[in-house]
Amino acid sequence: MRQVAIYGKGGIGKSTTTQNLTSALGEMGKKIMIVGCDPKADSTRLVLGGLSQKTVMDTLREEGEDIDLEDILLSGFSGIKCVESGGPEPGVGCAGRGIITSINMLESLGAYENDLDYVFYDVLGDVVCGGFAMPIREGKAQEIYIVASGELMALYAANNISKGIQKYAKSGGTRLGGIICNSRNVDNEYALLNAFAKEIGSHLIHFVPRDNIVQRAEINKKTVIEFEPKCDQADEYRTLANNIDGNDMFVIPKPMHTDRLEELMMEFGILG
Ligand code: ADP
Ligand code: MG
Repeated sequence: MRQVAIYGKGGIGKSTTTQNLTSALGEMGKKIMIVGCDPKADSTRLVLGGLSQKTVMDTLREEGEDIDLEDILLSGFSGIKCVESGGPEPGVGCAGRGIITSINMLESLGAYENDLDYVFYDVLGDVVCGGFAMPIREGKAQEIYIVASGELMALYAANNISKGIQKYAKSGGTRLGGIICNSRNVDNEYALLNAFAKEIGSHLIHFVPRDNIVQRAEINKKTVIEFEPKCDQADEYRTLANNIDGNDMFVIPKPMHTDRLEELMMEFGILG
């Protein structure tokens, strides 16, 4: 069983990419669970065809400790198992706690014991702090992919996340598996992302183009893989899935100094 965490700046496309990528892996016959680790609880909506999944935290609050796996885990497209950890009531407590509670709950209910090929954690956060570091801090996820684009803030976030990974990789077995570019159609984006990934000692695992089919599928509450399986964008997600499935480059990242990151962006004509 490979346990994979997807990190990246808010709004960069983590949930969309994770659900399309896991749907493509599902098509290949892989058995998958997605654990949403964002208080927004929208990590599994497309795989579930718009069904709103009751979060682990809400279930615990409303039903107490005595809950069954079926209360918090729903099956969606291609048999993908879906869990949303949820968060505290707005303004109360640390959102990261929900992740810790949820993973512990899933473990005690035996969710990891069936023949899963992959568990994906879709984790909010520009920085890997507190509870949001849980999947890697506790060694649950051995493999991390960072979703980024050629926009400055997306690369700042990716670099910060690399700092977090570097810190926890020293004590545990967590490694960076690569950078996923989710394109924003920035000039020179492919070259910039390639250079960024190389400089931190990793690689660009795939460049996912920006395409409005993603929005059309989203309005229909589906992944692109399910909504329009024959389109080019669906094939892009299949390529990403294949590259991750066959990936053998796992590193402790070497994050950049902020000055160097800005210099790199200047070289590619973004800031200059
Ligand atoms: P995150 O989970 O990182 O916060 P989301 O996956 O919710 O981000 O994506 C934010 C928005 O970007 C969504 O509305 C989604 O439809 C859109 N989006 C994501 N990837 C693409 C893409 N490759 N092309 C076009 N739109 C995209
Ligand atoms: Mg999300």
